[in-house]
Amino acid sequence: MTQIFNFSAGPAVLPKEVLQQAAAEMLDWHGSGMSVMEMSHRGPEFISIYKQAEADLRELLAVPANYKILFMQGGGLGQNAIIPMNMLGCCPQPGTIDFVHTGSWSGKSIKEAKRYANANVAASAEANGFTSIPPQDTWRLTPGAAYLHICTNETIDGLEFNFVPQVDARTPIVADMSSHILSRSIDVSKYGVIFAGAQKNIGPAGLTLAIVRDDLLNEALNICPSAFHWKTVAEHESMFNTPPTYSIYIAGLVFAWLKRNGGVAAMEQRNIEKARLLYAALDADDFYQNRVAPEYRSRMNVPFYLRDESLNEQFLAGAKARGLLQLKGHKSVGGMRASIYNAMPIEGVQALVDYLNEFAGR
Ligand SMILES: *Cc1c(COP(=O)(O)O)cnc(C)c1O
Repeated sequence: MTQIFNFSAGPAVLPKEVLQQAAAEMLDWHGSGMSVMEMSHRGPEFISIYKQAEADLRELLAVPANYKILFMQGGGLGQNAIIPMNMLGCCPQPGTIDFVHTGSWSGKSIKEAKRYANANVAASAEANGFTSIPPQDTWRLTPGAAYLHICTNETIDGLEFNFVPQVDARTPIVADMSSHILSRSIDVSKYGVIFAGAQKNIGPAGLTLAIVRDDLLNEALNICPSAFHWKTVAEHESMFNTPPTYSIYIAGLVFAWLKRNGGVAAMEQRNIEKARLLYAALDADDFYQNRVAPEYRSRMNVPFYLRDESLNEQFLAGAKARGLLQLKGHKSVGGMRASIYNAMPIEGVQALVDYLNEFAGR
Protein backbone atom coordinates (compact mmCIF):
# COMPACT_ATOMS: atom_id res chain seq x y z
CA MET A 1 0.00 0.00 0.00
CA THR A 2 1.18 3.53 -0.77
CA GLN A 3 2.15 5.45 2.33
CA ILE A 4 -0.40 8.18 3.01
CA PHE A 5 0.49 11.75 3.95
CA ASN A 6 -2.45 13.97 4.88
CA PHE A 7 -1.96 17.72 4.32
CA SER A 8 -5.41 18.78 5.54
CA ALA A 9 -5.65 22.17 7.27
CA GLY A 10 -8.03 20.78 9.87
CA PRO A 11 -9.26 18.46 11.17
CA ALA A 12 -5.76 17.33 10.44
CA VAL A 13 -3.20 14.58 10.71
CA LEU A 14 -2.47 13.14 14.16
CA PRO A 15 0.68 11.26 15.18
CA LYS A 16 0.34 7.60 14.18
CA GLU A 17 1.58 6.49 17.62
CA VAL A 18 -1.23 8.44 19.26
CA LEU A 19 -3.89 6.82 17.07
CA GLN A 20 -2.41 3.39 17.73
CA GLN A 21 -2.46 3.94 21.47
CA ALA A 22 -6.04 5.21 21.32
CA ALA A 23 -7.02 2.14 19.29
CA ALA A 24 -5.37 -0.19 21.81
CA GLU A 25 -7.18 1.56 24.68
CA MET A 26 -10.50 1.98 22.88
CA LEU A 27 -12.49 -0.76 24.63
CA ASP A 28 -10.75 -0.82 27.99
CA TRP A 29 -8.78 2.13 29.31
CA HIS A 30 -6.02 0.97 31.68
CA GLY A 31 -8.02 -1.99 33.03
CA SER A 32 -10.99 0.19 33.97
CA GLY A 33 -13.31 -1.94 31.83
CA MET A 34 -14.52 1.22 30.10
CA SER A 35 -13.76 3.21 27.00
CA VAL A 36 -12.79 6.80 27.79
CA MET A 37 -15.96 7.78 25.91
CA GLU A 38 -18.05 5.92 28.48
CA MET A 39 -16.53 7.39 31.64
CA SER A 40 -18.07 9.95 33.93
CA HIS A 41 -16.17 13.20 33.60
CA ARG A 42 -16.25 13.37 37.41
CA GLY A 43 -14.89 9.87 38.03
CA PRO A 44 -11.32 9.27 39.18
CA GLU A 45 -10.26 7.76 35.83
CA PHE A 46 -11.21 10.75 33.73
CA ILE A 47 -10.05 13.25 36.35
CA SER A 48 -6.59 11.65 36.15
CA ILE A 49 -6.61 11.94 32.34
CA TYR A 50 -7.64 15.59 32.55
CA LYS A 51 -5.11 16.52 35.23
CA GLN A 52 -2.24 14.92 33.31
CA ALA A 53 -3.26 16.69 30.09
CA GLU A 54 -3.43 20.03 31.89
CA ALA A 55 -0.07 19.54 33.58
CA ASP A 56 1.64 18.42 30.36
CA LEU A 57 0.30 21.37 28.37
CA ARG A 58 1.35 23.75 31.13
CA GLU A 59 4.85 22.29 31.00
CA LEU A 60 5.08 22.26 27.19
CA LEU A 61 4.14 25.94 26.87
CA ALA A 62 5.69 26.99 30.20
CA VAL A 63 2.36 28.53 31.17
CA PRO A 64 2.94 30.76 34.24
CA ALA A 65 1.07 30.00 37.47
CA ASN A 66 -1.11 33.11 37.13
CA TYR A 67 -2.78 31.75 33.99
CA LYS A 68 -5.67 29.26 33.84
CA ILE A 69 -5.89 26.66 31.10
CA LEU A 70 -9.54 26.16 30.18
CA PHE A 71 -10.76 23.17 28.18
CA MET A 72 -13.79 24.54 26.39
CA GLN A 73 -16.06 23.92 23.40
CA GLY A 74 -17.40 26.10 20.61
CA GLY A 75 -14.30 26.25 18.39
CA GLY A 76 -12.26 29.23 17.34
CA LEU A 77 -15.33 30.94 15.95
CA GLY A 78 -17.13 30.43 19.24
CA GLN A 79 -14.29 32.26 20.98
CA ASN A 80 -14.85 35.23 18.68
CA ALA A 81 -18.06 35.84 20.64
CA ILE A 82 -16.99 34.33 23.96
CA ILE A 83 -13.97 36.62 24.25
CA PRO A 84 -15.83 39.94 23.85
CA MET A 85 -18.49 38.68 26.26
CA ASN A 86 -15.77 37.86 28.79
CA MET A 87 -13.65 40.97 28.40
CA LEU A 88 -15.88 43.96 27.74
CA GLY A 89 -17.22 44.22 31.27
CA CYS A 90 -14.01 46.10 32.09
CA CYS A 91 -14.91 49.31 30.29
CA PRO A 92 -17.73 51.78 29.59
CA GLN A 93 -20.14 50.42 26.97
CA PRO A 94 -19.78 49.93 24.14
CA GLY A 95 -16.12 49.04 24.56
CA THR A 96 -13.55 49.18 21.80
CA ILE A 97 -11.48 46.26 20.57
CA ASP A 98 -8.45 46.82 18.35
CA PHE A 99 -7.79 44.32 15.58
CA VAL A 100 -5.05 43.73 13.09
CA HIS A 101 -6.64 42.33 9.94
CA THR A 102 -4.17 39.89 8.43
CA GLY A 103 -6.46 37.41 6.67
CA SER A 104 -9.62 35.34 6.71
CA TRP A 105 -9.64 34.36 10.37
CA SER A 106 -8.95 37.78 11.84
CA GLY A 107 -11.59 39.05 9.38
CA LYS A 108 -14.15 36.71 10.90
CA SER A 109 -13.17 37.78 14.40
CA ILE A 110 -13.74 41.44 13.46
CA LYS A 111 -17.15 40.69 11.99
CA GLU A 112 -18.31 38.81 15.08
CA ALA A 113 -16.94 41.39 17.52
CA LYS A 114 -19.08 44.10 15.94
CA ARG A 115 -22.09 42.51 17.62
CA TYR A 116 -20.62 43.39 21.02
CA ALA A 117 -18.25 46.30 20.63
CA ASN A 118 -16.67 48.93 18.45
CA ALA A 119 -14.26 46.94 16.36
CA ASN A 120 -11.40 49.20 15.36
CA VAL A 121 -9.24 47.85 12.56
CA ALA A 122 -5.93 49.32 13.71
CA ALA A 123 -4.11 47.98 10.66
CA SER A 124 -5.04 45.88 7.66
CA ALA A 125 -3.16 43.77 5.15
CA GLU A 126 -6.15 43.67 2.83
CA ALA A 127 -4.61 46.15 0.40
CA ASN A 128 -1.58 43.93 -0.11
CA GLY A 129 -3.75 40.83 -0.60
CA PHE A 130 -2.80 39.49 2.84
CA THR A 131 0.79 38.85 1.82
CA SER A 132 2.54 40.71 4.62
CA ILE A 133 1.88 41.97 8.13
CA PRO A 134 1.60 45.77 8.42
CA PRO A 135 4.60 47.13 10.36
CA GLN A 136 3.71 47.91 13.91
CA ASP A 137 4.59 51.61 13.62
CA THR A 138 1.65 52.00 11.20
CA TRP A 139 -0.97 50.53 13.56
CA ARG A 140 -3.54 52.96 14.90
CA LEU A 141 -4.28 51.57 18.34
CA THR A 142 -7.05 53.00 20.52
CA PRO A 143 -5.99 54.35 23.92
CA GLY A 144 -8.08 52.48 26.51
CA ALA A 145 -9.10 49.64 24.17
CA ALA A 146 -10.41 46.59 26.02
CA TYR A 147 -7.82 44.48 24.21
CA LEU A 148 -5.89 43.95 20.99
CA HIS A 149 -6.89 40.89 18.97
CA ILE A 150 -4.48 39.26 16.53
CA CYS A 151 -4.47 35.98 14.65
CA THR A 152 -0.87 34.87 14.94
CA ASN A 153 -1.14 32.31 12.13
CA GLU A 154 -3.62 32.86 9.31
CA THR A 155 -4.46 29.32 8.28
CA ILE A 156 -6.01 30.20 4.90
CA ASP A 157 -3.68 32.98 3.78
CA GLY A 158 -0.49 31.35 5.08
CA LEU A 159 0.70 34.38 7.04
CA GLU A 160 2.38 34.02 10.44
CA PHE A 161 3.48 36.63 12.97
CA ASN A 162 7.21 36.49 13.66
CA PHE A 163 7.01 39.05 16.47
CA VAL A 164 4.92 39.85 19.53
CA PRO A 165 3.31 43.31 19.28
CA GLN A 166 4.53 45.95 21.73
CA VAL A 167 1.52 47.46 23.43
CA ASP A 168 0.66 49.55 26.45
CA ALA A 169 1.00 47.26 29.47
CA ARG A 170 -2.68 47.81 30.33
CA THR A 171 -3.87 46.47 26.97
CA PRO A 172 -4.05 42.69 26.94
CA ILE A 173 -3.16 40.94 23.70
CA VAL A 174 -5.63 38.24 22.68
CA ALA A 175 -4.12 35.79 20.22
CA ASP A 176 -5.86 33.24 18.02
CA MET A 177 -3.20 30.53 17.83
CA SER A 178 -5.54 27.83 16.51
CA SER A 179 -3.28 26.66 13.72
CA HIS A 180 0.20 27.02 15.21
CA ILE A 181 -0.04 26.53 18.95
CA LEU A 182 2.72 24.15 20.11
CA SER A 183 4.61 24.53 16.82
CA ARG A 184 7.05 27.14 18.13
CA SER A 185 8.21 28.51 21.46
CA ILE A 186 6.14 31.38 22.79
CA ASP A 187 6.30 33.61 25.85
CA VAL A 188 2.82 33.18 27.31
CA SER A 189 3.35 36.09 29.70
CA LYS A 190 3.26 38.52 26.74
CA TYR A 191 -0.41 37.66 26.13
CA GLY A 192 -3.60 38.17 28.11
CA VAL A 193 -5.46 35.38 26.36
CA ILE A 194 -4.39 32.65 23.97
CA PHE A 195 -7.01 30.49 22.34
CA ALA A 196 -6.95 27.60 19.92
CA GLY A 197 -9.36 25.11 18.43
CA ALA A 198 -7.78 21.68 18.86
CA GLN A 199 -8.38 20.26 15.39
CA LYS A 200 -5.37 21.84 13.69
CA ASN A 201 -2.29 21.06 15.74
CA ILE A 202 -3.55 19.32 18.89
CA GLY A 203 -6.24 16.69 18.50
CA PRO A 204 -9.82 16.07 17.42
CA ALA A 205 -12.43 18.74 16.77
CA GLY A 206 -14.68 19.63 19.70
CA LEU A 207 -12.06 20.89 22.14
CA THR A 208 -11.10 24.56 22.32
CA LEU A 209 -8.31 25.74 24.58
CA ALA A 210 -8.30 29.10 26.27
CA ILE A 211 -5.28 30.19 28.31
CA VAL A 212 -6.39 33.19 30.34
CA ARG A 213 -4.45 35.45 32.71
CA ASP A 214 -6.07 35.45 36.16
CA ASP A 215 -6.87 39.17 36.28
CA LEU A 216 -8.98 38.84 33.10
CA LEU A 217 -11.22 36.09 34.41
CA ASN A 218 -13.83 38.31 35.93
CA GLU A 219 -14.63 41.07 33.44
CA ALA A 220 -17.59 39.46 31.70
CA LEU A 221 -20.72 41.11 30.44
CA ASN A 222 -23.94 39.97 32.10
CA ILE A 223 -25.10 38.36 28.87
CA CYS A 224 -22.18 35.91 28.86
CA PRO A 225 -23.54 32.34 29.09
CA SER A 226 -22.43 30.59 32.29
CA ALA A 227 -20.97 27.67 30.36
CA PHE A 228 -18.67 30.10 28.54
CA HIS A 229 -17.92 32.40 31.46
CA TRP A 230 -14.18 31.99 32.05
CA LYS A 231 -14.37 32.54 35.81
CA THR A 232 -17.12 29.95 36.17
CA VAL A 233 -15.30 27.49 33.93
CA ALA A 234 -12.03 28.06 35.83
CA GLU A 235 -13.67 27.63 39.24
CA HIS A 236 -15.01 24.27 38.10
CA GLU A 237 -11.70 23.17 36.54
CA SER A 238 -13.36 23.03 33.10
CA MET A 239 -16.16 20.82 34.46
CA PHE A 240 -18.96 23.32 34.95
CA ASN A 241 -20.68 21.34 32.24
CA THR A 242 -19.56 18.14 30.53
CA PRO A 243 -16.31 18.85 28.71
CA PRO A 244 -15.41 17.11 25.41
CA THR A 245 -13.92 14.16 27.25
CA TYR A 246 -12.67 12.06 24.36
CA SER A 247 -11.07 15.06 22.64
CA ILE A 248 -9.31 15.95 25.89
CA TYR A 249 -8.02 12.38 26.17
CA ILE A 250 -6.58 12.43 22.63
CA ALA A 251 -5.11 15.91 23.21
CA GLY A 252 -3.45 14.47 26.32
CA LEU A 253 -1.91 11.66 24.26
CA VAL A 254 -0.60 14.28 21.81
CA PHE A 255 0.93 16.31 24.67
CA ALA A 256 2.67 13.16 25.97
CA TRP A 257 3.92 12.44 22.42
CA LEU A 258 5.30 15.98 22.19
CA LYS A 259 7.13 15.56 25.49
CA ARG A 260 8.66 12.24 24.36
CA ASN A 261 9.87 13.97 21.21
CA GLY A 262 11.70 16.84 22.84
CA GLY A 263 8.85 19.28 23.47
CA VAL A 264 8.07 22.50 21.65
CA ALA A 265 11.67 23.60 21.06
CA ALA A 266 12.54 20.36 19.25
CA MET A 267 9.28 20.54 17.31
CA GLU A 268 10.09 24.10 16.25
CA GLN A 269 13.45 23.00 14.81
CA ARG A 270 11.71 20.26 12.81
CA ASN A 271 9.05 22.68 11.63
CA ILE A 272 11.68 25.19 10.45
CA GLU A 273 13.38 22.43 8.47
CA LYS A 274 10.10 21.17 6.95
CA ALA A 275 9.05 24.68 5.91
CA ARG A 276 12.49 25.45 4.45
CA LEU A 277 12.33 22.32 2.31
CA LEU A 278 8.85 23.02 0.99
CA TYR A 279 9.27 26.74 0.26
CA ALA A 280 12.57 26.04 -1.51
CA ALA A 281 10.78 23.68 -3.89
CA LEU A 282 8.01 26.23 -4.52
CA ASP A 283 10.54 29.02 -5.14
CA ALA A 284 12.84 27.00 -7.41
CA ASP A 285 11.32 28.54 -10.54
CA ASP A 286 8.01 30.16 -11.47
CA PHE A 287 6.06 26.92 -12.01
CA TYR A 288 4.60 27.35 -8.53
CA GLN A 289 3.98 30.52 -6.59
CA ASN A 290 3.58 31.44 -2.92
CA ARG A 291 2.80 35.14 -2.64
CA VAL A 292 3.55 35.77 1.03
CA ALA A 293 6.53 37.95 1.99
CA PRO A 294 9.27 35.49 3.04
CA GLU A 295 9.59 36.82 6.61
CA TYR A 296 5.87 36.27 7.25
CA ARG A 297 5.45 32.91 5.58
CA SER A 298 3.68 30.40 7.79
CA ARG A 299 5.61 27.34 8.88
CA MET A 300 2.34 25.47 9.29
CA ASN A 301 0.10 26.35 6.33
CA VAL A 302 1.65 26.76 2.91
CA PRO A 303 -0.74 27.98 0.21
CA PHE A 304 0.54 27.92 -3.35
CA TYR A 305 -0.67 28.33 -6.91
CA LEU A 306 0.27 26.63 -10.14
CA ARG A 307 1.30 29.21 -12.74
CA ASP A 308 -0.98 27.38 -15.17
CA GLU A 309 -4.14 26.84 -13.16
CA SER A 310 -5.68 24.68 -15.88
CA LEU A 311 -3.39 21.96 -14.48
CA ASN A 312 -4.96 22.08 -11.00
CA GLU A 313 -7.12 18.95 -11.35
CA GLN A 314 -4.28 16.98 -12.90
CA PHE A 315 -1.96 18.08 -10.09
CA LEU A 316 -4.40 16.97 -7.39
CA ALA A 317 -5.15 13.64 -9.07
CA GLY A 318 -1.44 12.87 -9.40
CA ALA A 319 -0.88 13.81 -5.78
CA LYS A 320 -3.68 11.56 -4.61
CA ALA A 321 -2.31 8.65 -6.62
CA ARG A 322 0.96 9.08 -4.70
CA GLY A 323 -0.79 9.13 -1.31
CA LEU A 324 -0.55 12.92 -0.89
CA LEU A 325 -4.00 13.88 0.31
CA GLN A 326 -6.08 17.03 0.88
CA LEU A 327 -3.86 19.50 -0.98
CA LYS A 328 -6.70 21.51 -2.46
CA GLY A 329 -6.65 25.15 -1.33
CA HIS A 330 -9.43 26.76 0.70
CA LYS A 331 -12.44 27.53 -1.47
CA SER A 332 -12.16 31.27 -0.74
CA VAL A 333 -8.65 31.59 -2.22
CA GLY A 334 -8.35 28.60 -4.59
CA GLY A 335 -5.05 27.05 -5.57
CA MET A 336 -3.34 24.54 -3.30
CA ARG A 337 -2.45 24.40 0.35
CA ALA A 338 -0.14 22.06 2.23
CA SER A 339 -0.58 22.09 5.99
CA ILE A 340 2.50 20.70 7.67
CA TYR A 341 1.59 20.56 11.34
CA ASN A 342 3.66 18.94 14.10
CA ALA A 343 2.31 15.50 13.23
CA MET A 344 3.48 15.74 9.60
CA PRO A 345 6.83 13.94 9.44
CA ILE A 346 9.65 15.33 7.31
CA GLU A 347 9.24 12.25 5.08
CA GLY A 348 5.79 13.58 4.14
CA VAL A 349 7.21 16.96 3.18
CA GLN A 350 9.99 15.24 1.21
CA ALA A 351 7.41 13.12 -0.64
CA LEU A 352 5.49 16.30 -1.53
CA VAL A 353 8.68 18.05 -2.66
CA ASP A 354 9.58 15.07 -4.87
CA TYR A 355 6.13 15.24 -6.44
CA LEU A 356 6.33 19.04 -6.93
CA ASN A 357 9.63 18.58 -8.78
CA GLU A 358 8.33 15.70 -10.85
CA PHE A 359 5.13 17.50 -11.83
CA ALA A 360 7.08 20.61 -12.81
CA GLY A 361 9.29 18.42 -15.00
CA ARG A 362 12.44 19.32 -13.10
C1 LIG B 1 -9.79 26.80 12.05
C2 LIG B 1 -9.58 28.13 12.65
C3 LIG B 1 -10.60 28.79 13.35
C4 LIG B 1 -12.02 28.27 13.43
O1 LIG B 1 -12.17 27.17 14.19
P1 LIG B 1 -13.59 26.47 14.37
O2 LIG B 1 -13.25 25.39 15.33
O3 LIG B 1 -14.04 25.98 13.03
O4 LIG B 1 -14.53 27.48 14.93
C5 LIG B 1 -10.32 30.01 13.93
N1 LIG B 1 -9.11 30.57 13.81
C6 LIG B 1 -8.10 29.97 13.12
C7 LIG B 1 -6.77 30.65 13.01
C8 LIG B 1 -8.31 28.74 12.53
O5 LIG B 1 -7.31 28.14 11.85
